[in-house]
Amino acid sequence: MPRLPGRRTQAFTESVIREMTRLARQYHAINLAQGFPDFPCPDELKEAAIRAIQKDQNQYSFTWGSPRLRAAVAEKAGWFNGLDVDPERHVTIACGATECMIAALLAVTEPGDEVIIFEPFYENYAPGCWLSGAQPRFVPLRPPEFTFDRDELRLAFNERTRAIIVNTPHNPSGHVFSREELAFIAGLCQEFDCLAITDEIYEHIVFDGHTHISLATLPGMWERTITISGLSKTYAVTGWRVGWAIAPEDLTNVIRKVHDFLTVCAPAPLQEAGAVALRLPRAYYTRLAEEYARKRDILLNALTVAGFRPWKPQGAYYILCDISAFGATDDVSFAQALAEQARVACVPGSSFYQAGSALGRQQVRFTFSKKDETLREAAERLSGMGAVLHVKPLSG
Ligand code: PLP
Repeated sequence: MPRLPGRRTQAFTESVIREMTRLARQYHAINLAQGFPDFPCPDELKEAAIRAIQKDQNQYSFTWGSPRLRAAVAEKAGWFNGLDVDPERHVTIACGATECMIAALLAVTEPGDEVIIFEPFYENYAPGCWLSGAQPRFVPLRPPEFTFDRDELRLAFNERTRAIIVNTPHNPSGHVFSREELAFIAGLCQEFDCLAITDEIYEHIVFDGHTHISLATLPGMWERTITISGLSKTYAVTGWRVGWAIAPEDLTNVIRKVHDFLTVCAPAPLQEAGAVALRLPRAYYTRLAEEYARKRDILLNALTVAGFRPWKPQGAYYILCDISAFGATDDVSFAQALAEQARVACVPGSSFYQAGSALGRQQVRFTFSKKDETLREAAERLSGMGAVLHVKPLSG
């Protein structure tokens, strides 16, 4: 018998989100679990990808990214994020924000370092820390605002803290971090001499006059921030696997090294299409936010009518809901029953909290990254489901 591997992977469980996608298929449920659009990406992107393949841009790109895409990333980081970025020294293209995050964690942490993560969190962050040998330290964001307690955050910082991960707009809560919150985080990063790794993948999806602010633009933060984003959410191409990390030269050099040995390069023709995407007219982003605001309102209304208590998101494309009104004792059985009986799939809240935490037990998350007709059909299925939903408690 070969020895089973594993110290690094012991803490992992199968992704609950992908498990819900499987259940959605099984029960022919509308999949409002996994955050991917069911509508097409812009034609300009498809045409650019086809052109790149036809022009035989089919071999490895520069490992840290096609010059055209890096130039486009630097340009957009200038006008949108307010960052002064040199595409030669500050940009690494990788396979999605996902690879950027793991490459950043592997590049900057040592075994034994601590990384602060706000909870609830996007489920990849803790495994990213474990794979790097770092220890995640969780700080709660509490409803209804999903903001942090300043004393609690300060107490989490110590001499072992290497980095804090800041995801804004935030998945799953939809919280958009304010300038004041970011300034407080920036102060602690400087006081404890640690890095910030920001996940800004939903940077263009903000509502109700909220503004996306990149932490790296705050005084003293450029030199200690890795800013991550990508094509997936903004351009509805989650399967293309193209993302980027923007960082000062010393950090970029180590991220590029790790990325080279993880995946060599992101898909070459899709990087070329990415350069076209990032130069779409600016009106594209205004329309994107408006359309998502409309979709949010459709789902928010449907959930409220069905008896959920949703927290209204300020950004991103998810709605986190309180399910206590249904008398459900645990989120996993609730989500399973919802998929099976109402035929709408969502994600159990506990998958956004550390194992054993009671905080997510009365929460579920829905995505509204869907066509209006999909959301309307989901609304139809959800209406009246409270009366018929039979939730079996989890055994064991
Ligand atoms: N970061 C957050 C917060 C996400 O919610 C997701 C996808 O759901 C990702 C990153 C994944 O991004 P990518 O497709 O660029 O790897």
